[in-house]
Amino acid sequence: MITREDCIRQDSGDSLAPLRALFALEGADAEGVIYLDGNSLGVLPRAAARRIGEVVEGEWGRGLIRSWNTAGWITLSQRIGDKLAALIGAGSGEVMVADSTSVNLFKALNAARFVMTPGRTRLISEVTNFPTDLYIAETFAREHGLELVLVEQSGIAAHLDDRAAILMLTHVNYRTGFMHAMTEVTRAAHNAGAVVIWDLAHSAGAVPVNLREAGADFAVGCGYKYLNGGPGAPAFIWAHPSHLTAMDREDWRQPLSGWLGHAAPFDFTPHYRPARGIARFICGTPPVIATAALECGVDTVLAAGAHGGMTAIRQKSVALTDLFMQLIDQRCAAHGFTIVTPREADRRGSQASIAHPHAGYAITQALIARGVIGDFRAPDILRFGFTPLYTRFADVWDAVDRLAAVMTSGEWRDPRYAIRATVT
Ligand SMILES: *Cc1c(COP(=O)(O)O)cnc(C)c1O
Repeated sequence: MITREDCIRQDSGDSLAPLRALFALEGADAEGVIYLDGNSLGVLPRAAARRIGEVVEGEWGRGLIRSWNTAGWITLSQRIGDKLAALIGAGSGEVMVADSTSVNLFKALNAARFVMTPGRTRLISEVTNFPTDLYIAETFAREHGLELVLVEQSGIAAHLDDRAAILMLTHVNYRTGFMHAMTEVTRAAHNAGAVVIWDLAHSAGAVPVNLREAGADFAVGCGYKYLNGGPGAPAFIWAHPSHLTAMDREDWRQPLSGWLGHAAPFDFTPHYRPARGIARFICGTPPVIATAALECGVDTVLAAGAHGGMTAIRQKSVALTDLFMQLIDQRCAAHGFTIVTPREADRRGSQASIAHPHAGYAITQALIARGVIGDFRAPDILRFGFTPLYTRFADVWDAVDRLAAVMTSGEWRDPRYAIRATVT
């Protein structure tokens, strides 16, 4: 039996523990809130509120339009892209932060079309991929005469044949937390002559990623999850340097050919000429305030560098998710839950999901009422994200303790917990 004391002992030996102070969690702590939803919206970094104040009052308020040059607003997207590159095994000048993950995926799919094997007809993805990825892919495929083929995870390999043009996958599944072996899957796709796009929405800042080593072609990802960039933070896009070189042709078009992706935006010429390198993936003016907030979030993950870096983050993430699953076995086995996240550590990201046959939403709501914030993903998944920068082992113990209480008391049956909000 694991005790709370065991968890407290683990916390006292945790090299990442000091990083919790980088986050504005005093409100949550005062209210006894345990936040296990950093996989959906990361916690506010303490530095972000200060930094946004500075950007608004100093750079915008006093600097006015001069700040595009004097405060470096115009290079912000690439500068933060360079910082983020270190977390995903990319080089400097290969990553841009911009737009949303959905929009960047559309750009990446279009880029993939330029480097895919001509004559191939299939865009392959997983039927369990995050819906926005599938929706973007569906329209993209229709526009370009490709067939969108949606397969189960176990069916991917069998579909890598001479019809496969593009394989587009999310590294860590948003519902189950299943994690693909990026290097092996990329190699198999390349052996079949397909281009690979990875969505790192649930990976960046959460699990070690090495895009270059994996030989991936393109990647996109999210700024507001484990990167703690704030609600609606800009997303990012990466292209392998060899593709960036190959794209340096006038006829290589980004479908969203906006002025800031132009080779010389301030020449104000009437015709589009793409910028070189990753800069061509930019469309319009960056949201400076949101981008500044994202930088504070990325900095929180980079701050782990002095405490063991991504290796320490991963170690703790595996330990937290392991602990959660063991405690579910120990405390909640009788309540009808099934753990859907892989037990093998190298097969999962930094979340743990449990399915409940009919009451997942109500249980999630009752648990939130007891101060444990996770979320619900239809039809039956209770999802818990573990952010090693601020989640403590004792938090995991308390969360499962309260879940056990919600189940034994039956309080989840209260009709008010069955009322579905817009965002689940
Ligand atoms: C969170 C998430 C997104 C979010 O896309 P937005 O365009 O930022 O809304 C996209 N894809 C995956 C796999 C996600 O998990």
